[in-house]
Amino acid sequence: MTVTEARRAPVRPPRAGRSNGQWAIDGRAPLNANEELKAADNGLNVRQRIESIYAHEGFDSIPDDDLHGRFRWWGLYTQRRPGIDGGRTAQLETSELEDRYFMLRVRTDGQSLSPAALRVLGGISTEFARDTADITDRQNIQYHWISIEDMPEIWRRLESVGLETTTACGDTPRGFLGSPVAGVAADEIIDPTPVIREIKRLYLGDPELANLPRKFKTAVTGHPSLDVVHEINDISLVGVRHPTLGPGYDLWVGGALSTTPMLAERLGAFVSEERAADVWHGVVRIFRDYGYRRLRNKARLKFLLAEWGAEKFRQVLETEYLGYALPDGPAPEPARGAGDHVGVHAQKDGRFYVGATPVVGRVGGPLFTDLAELIERVGATRVHLTAHQKLVILDVPESRVEELVAGLDELGLTTTPSPFRRSTVACTGIEFCKLAIVDTKDTAARAVAELERRFAGEDLDQPISLHVNGCPNSCARIQTADIGLKGQIVTTDDGVQQPGFQVHLGGGLASTDREEAGLGRTVRGLKVTAEQLPDYVERVIRRYQADRVEGE
Ligand code: SF4
Repeated sequence: MTVTEARRAPVRPPRAGRSNGQWAIDGRAPLNANEELKAADNGLNVRQRIESIYAHEGFDSIPDDDLHGRFRWWGLYTQRRPGIDGGRTAQLETSELEDRYFMLRVRTDGQSLSPAALRVLGGISTEFARDTADITDRQNIQYHWISIEDMPEIWRRLESVGLETTTACGDTPRGFLGSPVAGVAADEIIDPTPVIREIKRLYLGDPELANLPRKFKTAVTGHPSLDVVHEINDISLVGVRHPTLGPGYDLWVGGALSTTPMLAERLGAFVSEERAADVWHGVVRIFRDYGYRRLRNKARLKFLLAEWGAEKFRQVLETEYLGYALPDGPAPEPARGAGDHVGVHAQKDGRFYVGATPVVGRVGGPLFTDLAELIERVGATRVHLTAHQKLVILDVPESRVEELVAGLDELGLTTTPSPFRRSTVACTGIEFCKLAIVDTKDTAARAVAELERRFAGEDLDQPISLHVNGCPNSCARIQTADIGLKGQIVTTDDGVQQPGFQVHLGGGLASTDREEAGLGRTVRGLKVTAEQLPDYVERVIRRYQADRVEGE
């Protein structure tokens, strides 16, 4: 599928006499069970019940509509019961698949994690989550094995260091992606920190925005590496320099992956720092009021944009929601530098930031605690997460960079990773996700180790991105990877059914050239088993090395 085809994925008009369930056009009568659940009680209200009832009376006291519905508004999903074969995922009821423990998502919104925050995150992992903690590709922390009884204490600890789980999941504005080098990079166009802070101050937990048609993803960056995958968010503000108005943001809307992937569109509008929160609020309310609610698989903003087009979207935004016209503005320059920020880089204040690499985002409680000690020891002050499941340590004095790099190495967080370790992303997978069909994290980690062994000593001059999903959803963004893998049960030549993957090749982001940024294509019929994965990746790379043309 080309970019243009992806963007223009067909949006069928509703059948005669049938609506798409748009509040502003069709009224608010709920058209399906999900809409009924949200209309019956705002998802945000469930926290009060967790703290006053469920945490005391236990898992069995939680009614189904809270457990499988509103809990998500506070970042809680039941996790998968261990030992259930992936082939049975689609055949079983939720109650048979789920455990009595939860996955908990903590949002960081691109903000700084102080040593105190890292210790709190590590302590929660160790005391309440069996030492689990993953960095997600949305800059969240995900825990597993959480008991409902522990939630009041977990919230108390998180909030003591400025962290929250508010609308971390659910049909809401979820955790924001923010440039991990905001405010420090020497080549930054504009620091997005004030914009993210203001949006959160005004709108995080706003009950008026807690019943959207589906999830709503936000990204804000001012860094020329375009480090927040802006093409696949519902709204992105991307730093640009206006020829007369100075630094500000270029507005993109309507990107999202999943089963009908579409890249975001530029509206051609320039947004100043002062107006950014207002514009964000306008776009969310367009989604709330005009987004499709009849069918859940048509309920993302991308479908409304596909129907309206960028011109109408901008006109509705300006006339119905903002009450003022936005000036036209320039597009971002093509990406400069790697957006994962791995390695050692100079800050504008003479200190350094250092990007380090856990394998597929897996960290855990002891590592957070050790990292807090390390960064304090070297006189650094804070850590940011990236949209690529990495960590960036900020404000490192020049004289302590070497010591930090050595300390990170000891913690298993190399700053000079192999291309495989650097560019492999994996979703939660069958270990904990109820929708998963296959394992992802361990499979990907094993593949990384094996590929590092096979290519040891060879100079791979290009990064190669490997994104591993445990089911047909796209939490690990398979359509944006050189090699994307979509989990499914595959049948081998011998007729044996095994965990494996459908292969998707040739995706890539972080380019403003729409002919270059693309969603790749599924290679019909090309499937590999989990065991064959290293062999397959090696074959692709060796063929690419042998056949590529000059400059490719
Ligand atoms: Fe779960 Fe599928 Fe998302 Fe992976 S891609 S986390 S298996 S829903």
